[in-house]
Formats: sequence, structure tokens, C-alpha cells
Amino acid sequence: MKTAKEPLFLLSSIPYRDSDLVVNLLSSQHGKLSSVIYSGRKIGKTSSFLFQTGDLLEVEYQVKESNDFVKVINISSISTLSTDKFSYNRFLFHSYLLEVISKISQPGNPSDDLFDILLTNNQCKWKKKESFYLIGRMIWMLAQHGGFGIDYHTCGKCQRPTMRFNKDLEPSFRKENYQFSSNSGALLCSNCSPVANPEDLITPSMLKVMWTMDTDSSDQPGTGTIPDSIMIEVILCLNHYLLQRYEIKPKSLSLFLDSLKASP
Ligand SMILES: [Zn+2]
Repeated sequence: MKTAKEPLFLLSSIPYRDSDLVVNLLSSQHGKLSSVIYSGRKIGKTSSFLFQTGDLLEVEYQVKESNDFVKVINISSISTLSTDKFSYNRFLFHSYLLEVISKISQPGNPSDDLFDILLTNNQCKWKKKESFYLIGRMIWMLAQHGGFGIDYHTCGKCQRPTMRFNKDLEPSFRKENYQFSSNSGALLCSNCSPVANPEDLITPSMLKVMWTMDTDSSDQPGTGTIPDSIMIEVILCLNHYLLQRYEIKPKSLSLFLDSLKASP
């Protein structure tokens, strides 16, 4: 048995037997790891395991060769989240994000990108004004780095560019609507394929948001402010795309979507 010590994110914890927990953890090098935390369940008011999903932990563990089930020796916190202080929107997104990452991460697969998304989730300031932008950007990162990248530069069929740049390298987008091609990250313009379902519609202003999220690495939009209503359309459309490509349906999805639709 080999011993390792590294920072891991807590993805989920599920009650097991009378007093134990089964936890899933994310390693940037080894992907998803599982373990049993003995006596980790909350009994009455006391619990030996005080961490919440999304917390970044320093974990020392033993692992058998080619086995993703590890034996935890020691856990301490690196950065913990106070989910009780979250806004309702952020709380629902948080649960949703952790569930999606728990479903798409694989044992044994290096997961730098997923690890970085969780780091962003822990480190960014989450001001109310920017929260939809942050949610959108994390979903964008999940799509771009998970093997289902989106190409928003041209129509996948006629190859006409969706935008052109002026001399200051500011893009202007064609007055054209698009939708995702059903089995790739390509866009199709409405000339090539009429948009039948309004939920699939991608407008030029939505494309501009995608471009901003793709090119601006900060937590705030670089080019002026983006209205919440456009940001919510982008989140809904990217999220729909992401879940279809991964063929997953998280349990927390409907509450998360309701929280978006309840917003202006
Ligand atoms: Zn086209």
C-alpha cells in the first residue's frame, strides 16, 4: 500500500450504515476517489466529520495499486465554504455544480480542469451583481474543458463566420440566429437549419457573452455589464447543451433552473 497526501475537493458524502459516511473526493491527478469515513455521520448534534461538499481538504490516504477506493488516514481543511451564508441562488448552483462534477469525473483520470473550476467556485468573490456571470462562466468552463468544446466562430455547415473584428479587435456579431448542431459543439445558422425550438435559439448578444467568457479570464465581464436576462438565457442554453452531451440528468437540476427563472 502506498501513502499519498494531496489537496482534494469533497464532492459528495452519503450516509452509510449506522454511523459511517461514503465520500467522493476529487484529485487533480487521480480523478475521483472514494472512501469510507468511519463514524463520520452526524449523531444527534455531534459529528466527527465537519466538512461540506465543495470544501478543499488536505487528505493523507493509503491507496492500493489500481484502486480508486482509498483509506483516509488524516484530513484537515485548506479552504472551507460557509454555505449557510450563501444566497439562495448560489446555494442551488453550488449543489448543482458539485453534483455535475461528481457525475462527470472519473477514477484515474487527471482532472486539472474540474479541479480549477472548483477552485474558482471557492475563491471568487460572488458579488450579487456578478453572480449570474460567474455561474455562466463555470458552466462554460465545464463545456469547454470536458471534451465537448463549443466552436462559436463559424456556422458548422456554411462556414460563414459569426463575427468580425474591427481594428481595435472588438467583435461585432452577424445579425443571425443560431442553434447547436445536435451532436457536436458546432453552431448552425438559421439559413442552414431553421431554429424550430425557441429554447435552442442562440442570438448575437448571447454569442457575444460566450466570446466574453472565452476571452476574459477575470471573474467580471470585461466589456461593460451584461444584463441578467441575457446571462440567464446563456446559462440555460449552455446548460442544456452540456447535459445532453454528457447524457446526465442531475437531481438538483429542476431546483437550479427554477431559481434562475424566478430571477428578473
Ligand atoms: Zn450556415
